[in-house]
Parts: sequence; structure tokens; C-alpha cells
Amino acid sequence: MNIARVIVDVQAKTINQTFDYLIPVRFQDILAEGMRVIVPFGPRKITGFVVGITSTSDFDKLKEIIDVLDIYPVLTKELLELGKWMAEDTLTMYITAYQAMLPQVLKAQYKKELIRNTDEPLSKEFEFLFAGRDVISFEEFEGSSISYSKLQKAVQETTISINYLVKSRITKKLVTFIEPNKESYQLEESLFDLPQNAKKQRATLAYFIQNSDSIEQNKLFHITNSNRTVVKALIDKQLLKEIKKEVYRNPYNDDSFERTLPLNLTEQQEQALQPIKEKVSNSEHDVFLVHGVTGSGKTEIYLQAIQDVLNEGKEAIVLVPEISLTPQMVNRFKGRFGSEVAVMHSALSNGEKYDEWRKIQTKKVSVVVGARSAIFAPFENIGIIIIDEEHETTYKQEDQPRYHARDVAIKRGLYHHCPVVLGSATPTLESFARAKKGVYKLATLDKRTNEKPMPDVEIVDMREELHTGNRSMFSTQLKESMESAIERGEQIVLLLNRRGYSTFVMCRDCGHVKQCPHCDIALTYHKRSNQLKCHYCSYEERMPLECPECQSDSIRYFGTGTQRVEESLAQLMPHARVIRMDVDTTRKKGSHEKLLKSFADKQADILLGTQMIAKGLDFANVTLVGVLTADSMLHLPDFRSSEKTFQLLTQVSGRAGRHELLGKVIVQTYTPEHYSIQLASSYDFHQFFNAEMQIRRTFRYPPYVYLALITVSHPNHVKVVQITQRIAQLLTKVVAEETIILGPTPSPISRMKDRYRYQCMIKYKNEPNLRRNIKKIMDQFADEVRKEDLLITVDMQPYHLM
Ligand code: ADP
Ligand code: ZN
Ligand code: ZN
Repeated sequence: MNIARVIVDVQAKTINQTFDYLIPVRFQDILAEGMRVIVPFGPRKITGFVVGITSTSDFDKLKEIIDVLDIYPVLTKELLELGKWMAEDTLTMYITAYQAMLPQVLKAQYKKELIRNTDEPLSKEFEFLFAGRDVISFEEFEGSSISYSKLQKAVQETTISINYLVKSRITKKLVTFIEPNKESYQLEESLFDLPQNAKKQRATLAYFIQNSDSIEQNKLFHITNSNRTVVKALIDKQLLKEIKKEVYRNPYNDDSFERTLPLNLTEQQEQALQPIKEKVSNSEHDVFLVHGVTGSGKTEIYLQAIQDVLNEGKEAIVLVPEISLTPQMVNRFKGRFGSEVAVMHSALSNGEKYDEWRKIQTKKVSVVVGARSAIFAPFENIGIIIIDEEHETTYKQEDQPRYHARDVAIKRGLYHHCPVVLGSATPTLESFARAKKGVYKLATLDKRTNEKPMPDVEIVDMREELHTGNRSMFSTQLKESMESAIERGEQIVLLLNRRGYSTFVMCRDCGHVKQCPHCDIALTYHKRSNQLKCHYCSYEERMPLECPECQSDSIRYFGTGTQRVEESLAQLMPHARVIRMDVDTTRKKGSHEKLLKSFADKQADILLGTQMIAKGLDFANVTLVGVLTADSMLHLPDFRSSEKTFQLLTQVSGRAGRHELLGKVIVQTYTPEHYSIQLASSYDFHQFFNAEMQIRRTFRYPPYVYLALITVSHPNHVKVVQITQRIAQLLTKVVAEETIILGPTPSPISRMKDRYRYQCMIKYKNEPNLRRNIKKIMDQFADEVRKEDLLITVDMQPYHLM
């Protein structure tokens, strides 16, 4: 077994395979699958992942592995397999899939050093190597004759640790601890010998007569009012000793969480939880969809299911959307499970992320709460995977590998024989359709735990406002409601739905929005050519001068930013205190938390923000929610725009009246009759589901079909069209008759960074060979891709249709 199969870090489609390398004798004992290595590749030295170890190769004259980067595998056997599957499923390179599963720190090659963790003598050769130092460079070790397996053993015994140096910042933090070096009675004898005036030494010794555990040096200084000189003196007398311990940077201070106990469940919660618990205790895989209105206590169900999993000695992964990974959310998990919980959040520094990952890898924790990539947590005994707010599109990665966390979760759930729980107040059509078919098990919670009704929703027709002469972005109703809420000392959440700004065209008089006659999708305004275009079927027309419905000349494209809203709010209600939350005000680390905290502390009357304020927030004093323009997302060139509007309105409505005070929601819109706005205001998910499913069936969109999107880009317009055309033709030859191939059509963003972009959309029901066929076609273009600056991307589950 002296040959390693390695996936190398070369970003070229032709290199997407394993290469065989000889394992030098010095690495033979320690090298294992899932470790990273450095190998020669042509004239270069590159990194790679060992995915197999064998004794035979089809090639002779193998080159040798140059170096081994890990003492322990960074990818488990399961993750190696998962990465392979993911690469094949999303048509990406293996190397890209593996790198996506690891924290940033491990994606590059960093300098390493060895750290001595103990004052106890090490083995002779290590003593010789360290030569009295606490830290030595890894190169020194490599230059010595000590074997890797000896180092591996020392690391396992924690006498030595390996540290990755990330941009001069130390990844692992070592802290000095002090502990007694003698038995308590011996210390007592020594205390007797100490002079009376050595007060600090006596106090320190007295502490250790009482406490035999090690204590962080700084804490000891504090408790015994001592300092390093004092402690050093006692160490020199061999009464105490010092040890260095690896502590993890903890962005969340565990002591500050108040521990919570399981609540008595409501009947609906009990009914939802029971079947999940059964699967946990039988170690069986299944997928559950928990459809529960906001405030119905879904999180409590997750917590109690996780408790069961922990009782079985297993581990839990909880995914929440990035923007709802607020301190409030983290509190709820840390509050129940304390330091058992790791948090994976994009706002953490690279070092902090690595620390959280290490806690998982070393089994210091058994629960991880995190955003999308936490689905790759290197647990080895998973008992449950939970995806909260399963409808969120952030669970789909828009970069390679273009995976959906839900698919990965189900794959891992199958491997670990454990349930996967999807939760939402507004499930995706895909998931709900599957639940209705019985593919997923459905649990419904239609009551809030506090028995409070959902807040009343009032729809305000902004066309009417305009007709009565109100040109401001605040309707009379909203303004008056805000005034009286502030008078009562209550708080307001104002949502500006900004995702779809300035691209669609609407008549401000009658609310008419220009749609494509073939696609049921809003046309997109192209400023340069003054044209309206459909991005699915290439239909186009000139920007009209007047509204085709009512002949008004107030037809224009739309756009407002939070900053503008803040300004006009200041004019309209100068006395109101406003906190604005958007990408600009939350860019700095920790600012998100700070803003939310000051709102919770009632330092402001109004919280104004974009999507990021719609999720997961829970403020007792909020009684009014205002949505400024409910339509702005409705007319995006995206067949999911109605669904997203419905989801957002439902979510944001859930922010009001969650506690004692009753809540109210005011939705401003130019299209009050639109079914997604109407049905969101009556909280009628089922009717929305039925209405939307009909549209999806008529226009052949998911869940009735699957989609795949191929995007081609190149600086030359003609070339892009030609290549896309050729791809479409080649595809047409190999797909089933009922499969629809749309395109070439310009991408919604048709030129980006001086490159033209065209796309080809595949709508299919049953194409078992589609991936293989696409791959074959891509291979035909490999040469052009390499030589001619051509870029072709394939998304097997497109969400972001830009
Ligand atoms: P969801 O996640 O469905 O929006 P939450 O889990 O946030 O709902 O629950 C809403 C509120 O109800 C929270 O304050 C929670 O502590 C409380 N809650 C949940 N379950 C119960 C229960 N069984 N009894 C009393 N209060 C509960
Ligand atoms: Zn009109
Ligand atoms: Zn169209």
C-alpha cells in the first residue's frame, strides 16, 4: 500500500481525475485518505487531497509525494464520498467540491509551527529538537530525522500541537494555565515553610491547597491578587507548574447565556415532534416538513428533537439563513445546550471559523448552528439535520459547486440513517408538493404558542394615494398608524423591499406592469436601448411612452433606497428616532448586533431595513409593521417572484404582535389585487399554493419540471450567440421529445464586465442521462474554453436566473 490516489488542485476541466503518487517511506505509517498533500505536477508543486491508498497503479514511473500537510485527515470517508457525489451532481470539479467543504484556512497552504504543550519531558529526540524552546518551525521538524508517526503520536497525546499560521495571526490560541505540582498536604507543608511576609505567595499556595484543578493564569492573578513573579517563584520551587492549553476563540461568551429548560409542548408541537423522535430513536432516515406559522414554536421542536439526539450520543446540524443567524437565534441554542454548540457564521474571522470547525472535528461540540456551508460539518455520528426557513434561496450556492444544502442534507441523512427536518411558515412549492405526495412527512402547526391571532393586515392602494395628491412614499394610513404607535411608546418595523429596484416598468396611475405575452414574467427595462425585454424567450418591445392600459404618461421604471426613505422619514416625522439597517450600515463586524440591541433597548422608535429585518427577529414592543412597496419583487424576471413576495410578506408580518401587545401590518402596494399580496394578507398558504401551482403547470416551471441553465459568456457578441446556439442544437439531439430547450436568449444581465452573456434553459421531466450528455457537450468546447476566453457555466438547479 504505497501508492496514493490524489485529486490535485488544478483548475482545468481536463484534469478532473485522480493521479497516482508514490508514498515515501517516511509517510507510509501516517498517510490516510482525506489528508492534504503536496505533490509535483509538471514543473510545479501543488496541493491535493488523498482520496485512496492502494498498492497498484496503471502507470509506472510514479513521482513521489513531496509533503503531507495534515497529521489527521481533514475530510472523513463520508465527506470524501459526498464531495465526489456533489461534484458529479453539480457538474463541477472534484477539487472544487472538496475545497468547498473546508474552512478557508485549510484551502491554502499555510506555514506551520510546532508548539510544546507541557513542561514534562518529551521524548529524547523531541527534547533535542525543541532545545529549550516552546515553539519551533515545522521545517525544523521536517529537517530532523524524527518520523511523522512519532509526531502524530505526540499530537494525539497533546504534548505537542501543530499550529497553522494564518497571515501572521495564530489560529490556535494557547493560554497559560497553572496547576499544583504536588499533593495538597505537601503544599500545606510548604506553606508552613514560607515566610509570613510572602503574602502573595502564601495566598496563591492556599488557593491550590483548596483547588487541585488547573486554572487560567490570569484568573489566578485576579483571585489571589498575585502576579507572574509570584507564580514564577512557586514554579521554581516546583510547587506549581505551568501548562499551555489550546483554547478556542469564542465569539460568543458561553457564560452570558441563561440556561433554558424544555417547555411543555402544545398539542400541535407534540404531534409534530413525536414522529421525528421515533426516527431518531430507530436510527431511520426520513424527511419531515414542519409547516408552522411564525410563532408556532418550531424552534422549540428543533431543540427537543436535538436533546433526544444528544441523549443518544449523536450529533446535530442546524442550518439557518445567514441573515437570521442573529444573537437572538444563537441564544436559543446556546441557552439550551451551552458549550455543546458551535456556530458557523460568515461574519466570523477566518481564525474564528477555523476554531469552530476544529471544535466539530475534535468532537468538542455536538451541535452546530450555521449558515449553508455548515452542512459539511465533519461530524461522524449525525442524529438529525434541521433546515430552518427551508424556503430561503441562500441555501443554494451560486458559485461552484452550485449545490443546494437541502440535497446535501438528504444525502448525509441517508448515510447516517437520521431524519432531516425542513421547517418554514412558507415552504417552497417544491417541498410542499413533495409533502402532499407523501415523499416528505408533513407536520402542520397553524396556531401560535401564545394563542394570539396573527396580526391584521391592511392593504393600502398606493394608486389611490397618488390620486388624492399624496406623492410621498408614506400613505396616510401608514403615517397615522406610525404616529399613534410612537405616542403609545410602541415600536415599528419598516420594510423596504429593495431587491428588485429599477428594472421593471410600472404605471403609477393604474399599477399596470408590462409582462411578456409568452412567459408570464415582467419585462426588464434596458436603459441603453430603451427597450423592454423578456429574459426567458427573447421577446422585446420599445419602452412605451404611455400606459397601454390607461394611457397615462406616468409609466416609468422603479427604484428607491433605504437612505432615501430615511431622509423622507426625517422630514415627515422629525421626532421619530430611526435605526436604518441595510448592507451599508451593517458592513462592519458586530454592527448588525449593535443596531438590533439598541432597538431592543428601545433607543429607537422605528427599525427601517431591507430583507434582513424580516427574519427571525422577536421584539416584544413591536406592534406595527409597514411594508413600503410590496410589489418591487413581484416583477423581477423570475418565475419565483410571486412565491418570494408571498414568503417575504408572511415573514415580515410575523414580526408584529408576538407577545402581549396586538400587532398590525400595513402593506403598501400598487397592485393590491395580486394574489400573492391578497393571500399573504389573509395568511392563506394553501390557497396560494394552489394558485401558484396552476401557474407553474401552465407555464411549465418547477415543481412540474426540473430546470437546468447553461450560461455562455465571451467578449464577442456574435461568438456567444453562435456557441449558445450550437449547445442548444447539440442538446436538442440528445434529450427526450417532451424536454424543452429555450434559447439562446440573452441573460437578464446581458453584458457583464465587457462580456456578453447568453443562456440556454432546459426544462425536463425525466432525463436520466442529462448530466452525462451535458458533460459530453462541454467537453467538445473544452479547447475553445481554454484558448479563446470562453466561459460556459452549468447550473443544474438554477435559482438566481441572472
Ligand atoms: P417559530 O420558530 O415557529 O416562529 P418560535 O419557536 O420562535 O416559533 O416560538 C415562538 C415563541 O413561543 C417563542 O418565544 C417561544 O419561546 C415560545 N414557545 C415555543 N413553544 C412554547 C410552548 N410549548 N409553550 C410556551 N411557549 C412556547
Ligand atoms: Zn396605467
Ligand atoms: Zn417571454
